[in-house]
Amino acid sequence: MLTASCHCGRVRFTVPAPPPFRNECHCTVCYKYGANWGYYPKTEATISIDGKETPAADPAFSSETPLPGLAYYVRDVEAEKELPPTPGKMARGHLAFARCAHCGCMTHWVGIQPDYAKDPRQRVGINTRLMSEEDLKGVEQKTSAGPLK
Ligand SMILES: [Zn+2]
Ligand SMILES: [Zn+2]
Repeated sequence: MLTASCHCGRVRFTVPAPPPFRNECHCTVCYKYGANWGYYPKTEATISIDGKETPAADPAFSSETPLPGLAYYVRDVEAEKELPPTPGKMARGHLAFARCAHCGCMTHWVGIQPDYAKDPRQRVGINTRLMSEEDLKGVEQKTSAGPLK
C-alpha cells in the first residue's frame, strides 16, 4: 500500500504499489503542468479528500462535477481541433485535470465522458510527484509525447 498526497494533505490517493513506470508526458497540457504520471486501473486507486474516501471506480470520481475539494481543468478536445463545440454535450475524449482546490497541486487526470465513467477498467493518471521519492526508488522514468499504455 502506498499513499500519494498533495502539499496541504487534503487530497490523498491510496494505491497497492508503486506504478510500473512513471511518465513525463510532453503533450501540450502535461508539459506545462510538469506532471509525472503513474497510470493505474480505476479499480486499484482510492481518493480521499478531507478524510472522505471515494474509490476511483465509483462513477462520482468520473463525474463532470469535481468531488468537493477538487478543481478541474477540462481539456477541450473539440476546441483543440478547432471544431465548433456542441452545446450541452461533452466531446468524446474529454479529460479532467484535477488539482487540490486548496494548495493547487495537480493530483490526477480522469476521463469524464460517459463511456469512461461507466467502465471501471479504464485508467486514471495519478501525479507521482505526490508520492515520496523513497516510495518511487527504482521505478523506471519515461518521457513521451503523449500518454503511454
Ligand atoms: Zn492540497
Ligand atoms: Zn499529456
